[in-house]
Amino acid sequence: MEPFWKTKSLQQMSRPEWESLCDGCAKCCLHKLIDDDEQEDMVVTTEMADTEQLHFTSVACQYLNDKKCECSVYLERTKLVPSCVQLTQDNLDQVFYMPSSCSYRRLQEGRGLPSWHPLLNKGKKSKMHQAGMSVRGKVVFDNMIAEELYEDFIVVWPLNDLD
Ligand code: SF4
Ligand code: SF4
Repeated sequence: MEPFWKTKSLQQMSRPEWESLCDGCAKCCLHKLIDDDEQEDMVVTTEMADTEQLHFTSVACQYLNDKKCECSVYLERTKLVPSCVQLTQDNLDQVFYMPSSCSYRRLQEGRGLPSWHPLLNKGKKSKMHQAGMSVRGKVVFDNMIAEELYEDFIVVWPLNDLD
């Protein structure tokens, strides 16, 4: 029998199916900047226009457990971090904002799940970490870096995708 992610659209999935799709890479816990020709400085963003370019930084939310790549305040996250944007079936139009390796973006773009995805590896994240597709060991935290310095931490590795 074909797995649910091959037979259902993202909108058709149940809540547990939707949740299980997340690979736990934590790339969405990195701060992002937009580069807008009309502005001199790059700014922290949660929105983007057609003329703007999105850059990932290696600056992660202070509440990220960077070894497990898990949120340490999951139940309180929206209270503690108002800018913490969680992708849901209701805001799928924001999927562009996720890295290209993000499971939701891959499925939305018809690219399927990669071989390193935990769902294809008995729920384990080890293949993903080994493939360098998570943030493990690559980040600094936002409570250590002034926001105006984020530009110095722009990186391209979050854009990498495999398979
Ligand atoms: S980038 Fe996508 S797949 Fe990775 S942790 Fe965030 S929501 Fe999950
Ligand atoms: S609050 Fe948790 S889920 Fe939100 S950005 Fe921070 S670590 Fe990630």
